[in-house]
Amino acid sequence: MYTAPNKMMDSSKSSDSTNSGLQDSNSKTDDEEKDELCPGFRNADAFVKYGLGAVLSATKASAGLPQAGDEYDFYRSFPAFREFCESQGDKLLHCMSQTMQHHGCRSHLRDRNKLTGLEERFDLVVDSNDVILERVGILLDEADGVNRTQQPVLPAGFQPPKIVVSSWNRMGSSRSETFRLLQAKNVARPQLKFKEKVDNSNTPFIPKIFIKPNAIKPLPSYFTNKQIRKERPEDLDVPAALADFIHHQRTQEHVEDMFAHPYQYELDHFTIPEGLLSKAEPQMFKPMAETKCSFVDTLEDLVDLNEKLCKVSEFAVDLEHHSYRSFLGLTCLMQISTREEDFIIDTIELRSELYILNEAFTDPAIVKVFHGADSDIEWLQKDLGLYVVNLFDTHQASRALNLARHSLDHLLKHFCDVESDKRYQLADWRIRPLPDEMMQYARTDTHYLPYIYDRVRAQLLDFNFGQPGLLQSVWNKSKDISLKKYIKPIYTEESYLELQRKQKRSFNTQQLTAFRLLFAWRDKLARQEDESTGFTLPTHMMIKISEELPREPQGIIACCNPVPPLVRQHVNELHLLVQQAREMPLLKAELGAQKTKGLAPLKKLEVTLFGPHDTSKVSESVLHHCSPDEMPVKQGMLFSEDEDKMDVGEEKTSGLVATAKITQFEELETQNDQESSSVAQMKARRIIESFENPFRMYLPSSDVHISKNAKFDPSSKIFEISKRWKLQSIEHQQKELEAKREAKRKAKEEAKERIKKLKEERNEAKQSYQESLQNVATVRQQAAESAKDGGKKRERVASEIGALTPKPSKKLMKSEEKPEKKDPPPQDSFNPFDYSQSNLKVFAGNKPKDNTQFDPNRQAHDFKKRKNPKGQKSSFGAGNRSMSYMAGKSDRGFRQNWPKR
Ligand code: AMP
Ligand code: MN
Ligand code: ZN
Repeated sequence: MYTAPNKMMDSSKSSDSTNSGLQDSNSKTDDEEKDELCPGFRNADAFVKYGLGAVLSATKASAGLPQAGDEYDFYRSFPAFREFCESQGDKLLHCMSQTMQHHGCRSHLRDRNKLTGLEERFDLVVDSNDVILERVGILLDEADGVNRTQQPVLPAGFQPPKIVVSSWNRMGSSRSETFRLLQAKNVARPQLKFKEKVDNSNTPFIPKIFIKPNAIKPLPSYFTNKQIRKERPEDLDVPAALADFIHHQRTQEHVEDMFAHPYQYELDHFTIPEGLLSKAEPQMFKPMAETKCSFVDTLEDLVDLNEKLCKVSEFAVDLEHHSYRSFLGLTCLMQISTREEDFIIDTIELRSELYILNEAFTDPAIVKVFHGADSDIEWLQKDLGLYVVNLFDTHQASRALNLARHSLDHLLKHFCDVESDKRYQLADWRIRPLPDEMMQYARTDTHYLPYIYDRVRAQLLDFNFGQPGLLQSVWNKSKDISLKKYIKPIYTEESYLELQRKQKRSFNTQQLTAFRLLFAWRDKLARQEDESTGFTLPTHMMIKISEELPREPQGIIACCNPVPPLVRQHVNELHLLVQQAREMPLLKAELGAQKTKGLAPLKKLEVTLFGPHDTSKVSESVLHHCSPDEMPVKQGMLFSEDEDKMDVGEEKTSGLVATAKITQFEELETQNDQESSSVAQMKARRIIESFENPFRMYLPSSDVHISKNAKFDPSSKIFEISKRWKLQSIEHQQKELEAKREAKRKAKEEAKERIKKLKEERNEAKQSYQESLQNVATVRQQAAESAKDGGKKRERVASEIGALTPKPSKKLMKSEEKPEKKDPPPQDSFNPFDYSQSNLKVFAGNKPKDNTQFDPNRQAHDFKKRKNPKGQKSSFGAGNRSMSYMAGKSDRGFRQNWPKR
């Protein structure tokens, strides 16, 4: 806790005269000094005030610097300027590096060799900021004596000062006033009383809309027809396989609608009413004290509100949101202000009813004023099914006007001369009844907005000499924001790598495996328990556990301070995951190793470290370099369908794990064998391909539980990922194929070469042997002749002969036999198609192996057989999952393939 202030103290000391005005050390007594937060500053407030001033003037100064691409280039032509810039730049970077080092972040900002560009440096700074802020959060919690295990965490600044252990909060006596009102100890989980359960499934978000007011284009039948929406494949009264098929066909018709913005058409065709682009006299706001404020938490009041809103020409909207104790977050409050009245709407209580406001919200004749609507637009969709047509975002206006700052506080000060503070911004907005102070705060967020809207509009016109261009651009930017779609976080097999990359951590194979397993565990549990991932297991703790790989469950607990309740509860499970990670072969991983390309086998092994589970990337040649006991045999599994099959698979693959997990690779292999398969086999393959799961690409391996609809939602992350993935995999496949071909060719050549050599050697050996035999004879004769010389000479000669015998060649042959068998010369390369390896088995309907010819007529019959999930698990390639939708999963609690609505 003390480290940060100490550091600040150091820097304030070293920066000699800059804050001398505040450092009047002569007049201080020792007692005073003890009470000081750091020298020169009475308390945190004084320090913050000073710091803020410093930051502000620095910002100002930086804004005053010559602009890049403009004056800057000119000035730079003067060497003195250039030198000054460089030395100052270095100073700054040094200062930043020190700060970052102090916080244990990567910090070679100045090392020009290690970082290529500004972008990477910027990333470093962003990452460090995250680390520092996270630490600040933890320290604040610690300082406030928060015990996260017993109560929901209120925002750091608002914690009741219970167990005061640090000097830090001794100072904050003035703040204790505000603590009291937030001492709601256990906020009941609002999601428990939601009429419609929260959908945390790993499926893309589908709009919550079933009526569409102000529609130009009617709402697609998918949304209006409750039956289609609610229907799930298992509810159809037909066999499972058929049900899946029918459902797939039906939903296929709707996918485009399902993921489109319901008001896309209306927004695309929205034009700003002429009147709004011309100058109008700003209408002064009513003082808050004279304004009626209503708390809306009944349907009746909500209907009344809607009627009022439909009659005005503009109103302001804001939301308050809570994201710590829920996976997707909860919209807790909506504030609405007309010119006459303020409304605070309980969006927890009226969650399922708020859609009725769409009548006013999507009315193009009514302006909806927001400040910084980006998140609000998403939250409105996610929780309330609300959309906005005709949005005016004052944040965008502030940007266009180039105001000094673009925060609401600043606009309030600038236009309304109202001092506000955002202290409650991060309060726990789930608290009910809402304390009056929070209510007042919430009101302030919208009360002045209609007036600010008037003012910025007038200025935007003035700024542009009365021309509407600039104002129009703000409206257009606002429209783009209202076109935003809520995107649910989707878990993919690669998600953990994304996070790892962000954290810029370098892990060895065991650590990376632990990180992957913990990440998957956290995601799954957070969804299940409807908690945020941050509550379930904060990232920094996850990293700590991964890095330390504790041998005991207690060690896991020790990595966490404070221990998250779900970690404590599941510590044994976590321990098993860590153990599993420890079983990985230990290989050092370099960050960015994925970028290193190269065909050298050992380098290739490095590549695999980024996905040690993806053994498809380990070529056979690489595996030759590993001894059997360091084989990456055991793969970590969490969301796997065939956990129980694991052991079997292991035995089968022990020693050689180059079987592709990603089915696309498998397919390629078989394609490669195409020349060797019969007409019937090829026919069969084509038929299988025609039944291919359209979502297959999202099922890279069995341990992913991701959506099948995601593909169709172009806004979804998974869509992007899959697109990228597809491209990558094609590239990858091609490369791999080429590499394989090359390797095979080489191996063949080598084998030929070796055979040739061996033959030669053999001949040579034979020859020399025969020669030596002759020599022996002559030597014997010689020896017999010169017997008196003793056996010494003879012995030596005999050993010389020994060296020429074919024995060593035989030895050589033996050691070379293996690769020869592995890669037989071309004449031996014909392999009959191996049905046991192929998906055709499925179509053969678990028939005995000998009946390998495909019979299309058997297909329907075989589909029924597939109902046995066990059989399906073992033998179904991803291509065949098309219509099964992992029936086996449903019993295990993560059937998340069908959006439940
Ligand atoms: P506002 O629009 O300022 O009222 O903020 C609306 C909601 O955004 C708040 O209720 C918070 O949930 C969230 N929020 C705002 N600022 C932050 C922030 N700096 N960090 C995290 N959440 C924030
Ligand atoms: Mn807001
Ligand atoms: Zn707000």
